[in-house]
Amino acid sequence: AKNQGRGNFQFFSAEMNAATHERLLLEGRLWQALEQHEFELYLQPQVDLATARIIGAEALLRWHHPELGMVGPDRFIPIAEESGLILPLGEWVLHEATARLAAWRGGDLAHLRLAVNLSARQCHGPGLLPLLDRLLGSQGIDPALLELEITESAAMQDPESSRVLLEQLRARGIKVAIDDFGTGYSSLSYLKLFEIDRIKIDRGFVKDIETDPDDAVIVAATIALAHSLGLAVVAEGVETEAQRDFLRSKQCEEAQGYLFAKPVPLAQFEAMVRTQAQD
Ligand code: C2E
Ligand code: CA
Ligand code: CA
Ligand code: CA
Repeated sequence: AKNQGRGNFQFFSAEMNAATHERLLLEGRLWQALEQHEFELYLQPQVDLATARIIGAEALLRWHHPELGMVGPDRFIPIAEESGLILPLGEWVLHEATARLAAWRGGDLAHLRLAVNLSARQCHGPGLLPLLDRLLGSQGIDPALLELEITESAAMQDPESSRVLLEQLRARGIKVAIDDFGTGYSSLSYLKLFEIDRIKIDRGFVKDIETDPDDAVIVAATIALAHSLGLAVVAEGVETEAQRDFLRSKQCEEAQGYLFAKPVPLAQFEAMVRTQAQD
């Protein structure tokens, strides 16, 4: 940490002190956390709305911090982005995810797809494609079972490099989804520019489908737009049956949200899929 000089501290408010204190606790341990195996990937089921079956999951990072307990990614991903740890951390996530796909291969879970979040730095660095080739190739994984989620804002930081990356991913048969669709400031023109498979409708739009007619219209129009471009749609943050029914009535293919399941540890996810298979 920078030495700010003793006198500066008196200007901090109490909240700022608390926030700074937490940040220091997180930042100070972040690098070590990877070596100490304090990270875990939780899996949140993604459900086919037509059949109500689990077709895969999104991998979501969790950090078991020795002092703070379970820390969610919204608290440490921004720090990891700034400090550069996001690169080794993102590599670990891809390693874990592909290890799961490899473990499922040939068994009763072989059909499951895994979606992994990519940070802006990962997308725009040179290491991603060689890493993916190594991870998928060495384990003989069907690339179509891996989906990479890229936010609109990350992609638009460098549209040309994103365009090339997405083209390369698709050439390998890896699936690509645009995450948090509709929340960025960019125009829709990138839908034409980028080769993608799926868009993820942000929870911010799904949340008020029942109460805000504008949001209902936006969601319906987004699904129709995606379909007319040949893209599939997954809605995130689905919490109620009414939201699910609305999405299904608009032919949204897939959904994810607390209505179906929260993100859970691997063993619990596998048990969930197996229980469902017996129905
Ligand atoms: P995201 O990619 O938009 O992930 C969806 C977030 O919504 C997750 O939060 C998930 O737990 C939450 N969620 C899912 N269904 C519901 C619901 O029905 N209601 C509500 N209220 N929330 C729901 P989470 O796990 O805290 O992750 C937050 C963000 O952290 C993610 O947002 C993603 O941007 C980032 N993140 C998580 N894992 C990774 C990772 O491995 N790499 C990178 N680069 N970012 C990650
Ligand atoms: Ca995501
Ligand atoms: Ca999202
Ligand atoms: Ca989000």
